[in-house]
Amino acid sequence: MHKQCQCGEPMGLELRKVIYASKVEILHVPVFSCPSCFSSEVLQHVTKDIKELLQSLGSKPAPRRISFARNNELAEIIRKLVLEEADNPNVDWQSALE
Ligand SMILES: [Zn+2]
Repeated sequence: MHKQCQCGEPMGLELRKVIYASKVEILHVPVFSCPSCFSSEVLQHVTKDIKELLQSLGSKPAPRRISFARNNELAEIIRKLVLEEADNPNVDWQSALE
C-alpha cells in the first residue's frame, strides 16, 4: 500500500473531505498525500466507487454531507485503521490493509 510520489517521497494515506459541485461534502475519502510537495491522489481502489457515487448525485445535487465510508466497505476499513493508528502509532496498518 506504500506509494511513492512523483517527487520521490513516500506518500501517506489519510482521510479527506472532498467537495463536489461546491455543495456536497463527501467525508472519509481515502487519499494519498505527499508531505513534501503536498500533491495528493485518491486511492486507486476506490476511484470507481467515488465516480459512481458522484454520478448518482447528478449534475445539480442538493447541498448535503455524505460519508463515503458508509457507502464503501474498503473506505470503512481504512477509516477504522486510520482511527486505530491514532491510538496506536506503532501499528503498521498499511500492512494490515494489504
Ligand atoms: Zn511529492
